[in-house]
Amino acid sequence: MSRGSVFILSGPSGSGKDTVLKELFRQHPDLLFSISSITRAMREGEREGEKYHFISREEFEAMLKADELLEYNIYGGNYYGTPRKPVEAAIMAGKNMVIEVDVNGAEKIRCKLPEAVSIFIMPPSFAELKRRLVGRGTESDEQIKIRMQTALDEIRRADEYDYIIVNQDVNTAAAELFTVIDSRRLTAEKQQTIINEVLAEC
Ligand code: 5GP
Repeated sequence: MSRGSVFILSGPSGSGKDTVLKELFRQHPDLLFSISSITRAMREGEREGEKYHFISREEFEAMLKADELLEYNIYGGNYYGTPRKPVEAAIMAGKNMVIEVDVNGAEKIRCKLPEAVSIFIMPPSFAELKRRLVGRGTESDEQIKIRMQTALDEIRRADEYDYIIVNQDVNTAAAELFTVIDSRRLTAEKQQTIINEVLAEC
């Protein structure tokens, strides 16, 4: 069985990447999602184990000490980390797994898994990103200011990614994201079995 593929997905807060991901997984439930362990408080509408495992700082630090994280970062004073085991299990089982991380996390995963494909979700404009962040109404003015600055820093590093998808329209962005994911299936590396089969006939 060929190894599964890892898709690193980033995009600033307010890029709409969560909505794009939701649509992607609704249409393609066979894809796996890496559930991050994080220490920030749960927001309204979030559920334990859906996108995140909400754990205490002590639990997070214990995971760090036990080398159970593929990467981690501190964001807005909270820890965010990618548990290592589910990613390794997905690769071994030949499954496609999407890992959603910030730009620093993406850099760390690229170092550990150089074959991973990285995708950046762009807002159509900075004005639209601000409108979405303010409209969400879940953060204080100060938190919004910090997220806007972080968004700018992240967009400056968008060219480190293999693909950029502009989220003007959720359905189009989700379809483009799936096109990128599905195209991995056709790489020469993944098609080694058919190459060998055809050659074996000669
Ligand atoms: P939020 O608090 O808005 O859910 O996420 C804040 C940021 O943390 C986003 O940029 C998101 O992509 C990033 N993030 C989510 N999970 C992880 C993770 O496991 N590791 C890292 N490095 N960043 C993460």
